[in-house]
Amino acid sequence: MIDKKTLLSSIPAVDELLNAEGIKGLIHLYPRPLLVDSIRRSLNNCRQTIINTQDISSLSFDKETIIREIVEYVKKRMNNNLKYVINATGVVLHTNLGRACLNDEIMEYVVKVSSRYSNLEFDLDKGVRGSRYDHVEEILKYLTNAEAAMVVNNNAAAVMLVLSTIAKGGEVIVSRGQLVEIGGSFRIPDVMAQSGAKLVEVGTTNKTHLWDYENAINENTKAIMKVHTSNYRILGFTKEVSSEDLVALGRSKNIPVIEDLGSGMLIDLSKYGLPYEPTVKEAIASGMDVVTFSGDKLLGGPQAGIIVGKKQYIEQMKRNPLTRAFRIDKMTLAALEGTLRLYYDEEKAIKEIPILKMLTEDYKEIRKRAEKLYSRLIKILEHGCTIAIEEDYSEVGGGSMPTHKMPTTVISIYPEKISVNQLENKLRNNEIPIITRIHKDKIILDLRTVWEDEYDIIEYALVKALQ
Ligand SMILES: *Cc1c(COP(=O)(O)O)cnc(C)c1O
Repeated sequence: MIDKKTLLSSIPAVDELLNAEGIKGLIHLYPRPLLVDSIRRSLNNCRQTIINTQDISSLSFDKETIIREIVEYVKKRMNNNLKYVINATGVVLHTNLGRACLNDEIMEYVVKVSSRYSNLEFDLDKGVRGSRYDHVEEILKYLTNAEAAMVVNNNAAAVMLVLSTIAKGGEVIVSRGQLVEIGGSFRIPDVMAQSGAKLVEVGTTNKTHLWDYENAINENTKAIMKVHTSNYRILGFTKEVSSEDLVALGRSKNIPVIEDLGSGMLIDLSKYGLPYEPTVKEAIASGMDVVTFSGDKLLGGPQAGIIVGKKQYIEQMKRNPLTRAFRIDKMTLAALEGTLRLYYDEEKAIKEIPILKMLTEDYKEIRKRAEKLYSRLIKILEHGCTIAIEEDYSEVGGGSMPTHKMPTTVISIYPEKISVNQLENKLRNNEIPIITRIHKDKIILDLRTVWEDEYDIIEYALVKALQ
């Protein structure tokens, strides 16, 4: 029986591997320090495995295997970790898969603006220093009817900035039914604490009345806040105070009323078969002093937090030192501006903003696309699987419209020679990863979130995985 010491000493040295066939040639392809470091780490892994394994009789470390692992490891380190994947889950705003995907033409403009110089903070008319917020302020005012607007990194930052500017050191009244957690540790009470404002909860989980707010107002009250409960629904015996009533109360006591809309839509998507969600324009029309929302939820743009509302408050926010910490970068700003411009024409927005197109696509169209891919996949049948076209439902995702199920068409694949988990794993580890869903021993490909130019990749990956 081999002992640990012998096995440890059988591991080749770094220099030996550097000169070995299969690695020698890599010196011209990869930076030498990275190669050496990768060899060291791989060898350390082997040593650790030996040290940590009780029964080493099944272990062996032949040179070929070690070399193969090193080569794979260096390649992996050279490739970008953050990469393009195919979303076959049907979840349109998939937070783990980057939420909204952006229009190609807009991306060309983002590349140009960021690979060369830009007028990010330069006023081309006057030839003097300008503000990065000016590029989108006019269009946001036009699209929402607000007096003023600004943008930061994301909506969480927007909420924090608003609270810190308006309510630091004072109290903010929020209904208990609206103390939401969005995920990724964004909870209204925690954000409130960080901003330096004190949360005053009123009402109960299912019912809050106007008098609950009224009774909570005192000389320390700095704001009344409404939070759109975008990611869950309370049904049944419920009551929320309308925005108009909250605004009237705020006006009568000289207290600003603010709203975190979450998803924040610029057009009413109920015309296109989606559930009704309040638009930013409606929130402003109700008299809200400040409204915040995300750039990469139903708006369909890049990650950003948008703040619109009364000029006096927005001006104060622009001067808050947190604004510098939360500031939006030029690539995001370019993508946001491009996306907002598509909203000048509602029909154009629906057609050209990828997530709006996916959300409003008729399931009959999706069925046609599924049939097209299906006819190409017939050939994988010979590799031992059953495939079928099925009716199913896709989700909006991103904590938006949580109860809404959109009819869709999926392709289901039941592998006969490998397990469904193995197939899912192979697709996920494809060169261009394909992210799928498993349902009852079958892989589900929901065509709603798949582009036609991705069919080739899917077909090839499936053939390879099942062979
Ligand atoms: C999503 C959401 C947020 C957080 O927005 P991010 O852009 O993800 O930071 C805050 N509030 C509400 C109500 C939300 O739905």
